[in-house]
Amino acid sequence: MEKEIEGIVLRQVPYKEKDKIVTIITRKGLLSFDARGIASLTSKNSSSCNLFSLSNFTLNEKGNYLSLKQGKLIDSHYELYESLESMSAIQLAFESLIRFMDENDTKIYDYVLSFFDNLKKGFDSMTLLVILLAQLIKSSGYALEYSSCVECGNKKNIVQVNYRIGGFLCYECAKKYNEIHDDKDYLKSFRYVFMVSYDMMNHYELDRKIASRLLKEFIDFLNFNFDNKEIKAYEIYKNSIIM
Ligand SMILES: [Zn+2]
Repeated sequence: MEKEIEGIVLRQVPYKEKDKIVTIITRKGLLSFDARGIASLTSKNSSSCNLFSLSNFTLNEKGNYLSLKQGKLIDSHYELYESLESMSAIQLAFESLIRFMDENDTKIYDYVLSFFDNLKKGFDSMTLLVILLAQLIKSSGYALEYSSCVECGNKKNIVQVNYRIGGFLCYECAKKYNEIHDDKDYLKSFRYVFMVSYDMMNHYELDRKIASRLLKEFIDFLNFNFDNKEIKAYEIYKNSIIM
């Protein structure tokens, strides 16, 4: 059987002499296929399988085995290659997607497309990353509560984000744990990055301090809930931007 699917190349792993296993993110989740002969200089399909490429793929399907019949490049995103900040933001996004995304997630693909579009328009990369990671947290199954107190359901008097307990805490409930009160802008931003739809990602630029705090917290939260391995791209990204 044949199937056609649009996707963005997240990873390619060489195997044998000229073949690669290509992993793409699509509207239906993650999938991997065998791209035979792709590393050969004469391969017609190689540009469609380059890292970061958005392409249309025609795949042969035999049971669980998928192989590439034809790839048509839609956008190589080459204009982002010149910016170290954009490249390291994409690396961080991709490393996180591969590690933490539910492979059947159908919602995050539009955020990834919008992430690329807005990077090209020069929108703040850190805001885009924080939104993408918030959506990944939703996708990962380790959800955080961002609309009411995680303990009592109160929507008012939210004073704190408590990652250990699972999200927002109200004034009364926060007393049980610690007296820390987060500032209002931070709490608003926390809620915003979970709520915002993919077509509004460039609607509001987060304050740099808040964005960098959320970025670190989200990465720590995901790491803690998964395998606690370091995300290499995080340090590289931090070094690529002027804080
Ligand atoms: Zn409460």
